[in-house]
Amino acid sequence: MKTLNSVKDLKNLLTQERLKNKNIGFVPTMGALHDGHLSLVKHCVRENEVCVVSIFVNPTQFNDKNDLDAYPRTPEKDRTLLQTAGCNYLFAPSEKEMYPEPDTRTFNFGNLACVMEGEHRPGHFNGVAQIVSKLFNIIGPCKAYFGEKDFQQIAIIQQMVKSLHLNVQIIPCPTLREADGLAMSSRNQLLSDEQRRKAPLIAQTLKESATLATNKTVREVKDFVTNTLNKEPLLRVEYFEIANRHTFTPITCWTETTLPIGCIAVFCGNVRLIDNITYFVPQIQTN
Ligand code: AMP
Repeated sequence: MKTLNSVKDLKNLLTQERLKNKNIGFVPTMGALHDGHLSLVKHCVRENEVCVVSIFVNPTQFNDKNDLDAYPRTPEKDRTLLQTAGCNYLFAPSEKEMYPEPDTRTFNFGNLACVMEGEHRPGHFNGVAQIVSKLFNIIGPCKAYFGEKDFQQIAIIQQMVKSLHLNVQIIPCPTLREADGLAMSSRNQLLSDEQRRKAPLIAQTLKESATLATNKTVREVKDFVTNTLNKEPLLRVEYFEIANRHTFTPITCWTETTLPIGCIAVFCGNVRLIDNITYFVPQIQTN
């Protein structure tokens, strides 16, 4: 595995690979890698002749400076994990390298970016689109891999690819979880032991809500999730919404859409965790 910090060097190497007709696959990350990231990398290695992984904690997608400062960074461990997973090129640029000048571009994702993560993290998706579009330009991948843990992010990226006419296929990958159900996240390492013991309640409650969905209304399921989690003193629900999985418009009745998605953000102390669940509700139900 080669590690590159410079855009120019990476572009030169990838031009050589393209001249040899190699397919390039790409996994963007912010590092502090865990098995969830590595599942994306393994998927990429299987499907492409060349696998590029980026590690860059992108400041423009953080709406909270403390969150950016606290974001975990484990560069040495990340390198070893990527090497073992079969990554060919690790791109780990500096902020100056990625933003030689401020990025003033504003993307308009309409409703997609106005609800849930978009509503609670103003500017977040604009920052995501800025960095991912730059990385796509530099790397020119045929395929790029994204985790369904960040479900709304995938829709944003797909919309960006469509509106910029980019030649990249977006491959969604399933969420990897710890044995107790907690969705793997770089932020999990910021949890205290006690918080870590309570955090799995998020996934467990979502799972339970999927069972309730067969005979409860959308309102009842939403209240169940919010109330169950808020009863735990170490957890505070920022939002929980059940929505159309394509448009992210909230639903009030199960028949409004097929396979609605429930998306949640919960503060566990200062650590913000997100997760989601798909509801498999029979369409004959009318409440
Ligand atoms: P991040 O480093 O948090 O920006 O994540 C980089 C990529 O890994 C994103 O596409 C995430 O959705 C994905 N990812 C993060 N956690 C998981 C997980 N538990 N399972 C699968 N993919 C994940």
